[in-house]
Amino acid sequence: MEIKEYVLNRKTEMREEISTLDKAPVLSIISVGYNPASESYMKGKCKDSAEVGITALMSRLPEEATQEQLLNLIKEQNDDPSIDGIIVQLPVPKGIEEKAIIDTIAPEKDVDGFRADSPYTSCTPKGIIDYLAREGFEFKGKNAVVVGRSNIVGRPMAKLLLGKDCTVTIIHSKTPEVEKRWYLAHADVIVVAIGRLGFLDESYELKESAWIVDVGINRGEDGKLHGDCVPNLKVARQTPVPGGVGLLTRLALIENVLEAKKAK
Ligand code: NAP
Repeated sequence: MEIKEYVLNRKTEMREEISTLDKAPVLSIISVGYNPASESYMKGKCKDSAEVGITALMSRLPEEATQEQLLNLIKEQNDDPSIDGIIVQLPVPKGIEEKAIIDTIAPEKDVDGFRADSPYTSCTPKGIIDYLAREGFEFKGKNAVVVGRSNIVGRPMAKLLLGKDCTVTIIHSKTPEVEKRWYLAHADVIVVAIGRLGFLDESYELKESAWIVDVGINRGEDGKLHGDCVPNLKVARQTPVPGGVGLLTRLALIENVLEAKKAK
């Protein structure tokens, strides 16, 4: 199924489930300063929330806000039982540490799933695994290759694939080229999350039966968004950019908010 259709179907299911709850789930979105890309992401999160019946509360702090002011606001919201999930839109201005933010959000409200002790799975890997499962990808015993080892995508992705009984390899910038090619040639599912436009191209020998998940978002010289993989590789499935993993990540966030509400 196309990702757009899959997301629409899941949102319909969620809307129905939320309509049966006694009170709508509440997501708090906190931002500091102004960043055009962040504005567009926050607009997307508010739209997704509204579509399924989640109440999104926006709190905007000025560019000159201190870390203490931000952490105090988070603490107030941690103690507010009417709020189910809290996210702080990243990046934040210089002078505010991302780690301090993550460490302050209460684990049970950390719907981004950034804390090690958060009960929620971080959104991009969760969105990808749920989609692959819904599409009938049979994980057990398959070779999974994750390209990229960041804390928000590569590492949690590899852990989830391992949890699904895949044989998992992580490739990173220090992996020799010849080894990269060998692992990729044997992969049944490949998740590419490095932020290098067109990294995976036709020069790589890939299994025709492979599924490719393209996480990358890169602005091309044409001014448009492109993934880490060139389109239309000769494989069984390949997620598009745009209209691919970005939509799955957004879906996973509202799913985590619903989970947070239900966990109460
Ligand atoms: P990141 O923190 O910059 O990490 C990039 C990773 O790629 C690093 O582990 C790096 O290896 C590895 N890498 C870089 N060049 C490589 C190469 N030539 N071969 C193999 N590995 C290489 O990036 P990120 O936050 O994970 O994001 C990755 C991409 O996904 C970005 O384009 C980002 O915009 C996108 N993204 C999309 C979504 C979405 O919802 N669609 C969500 C999150 C991120 P080292 O560790 O050795 O440096």
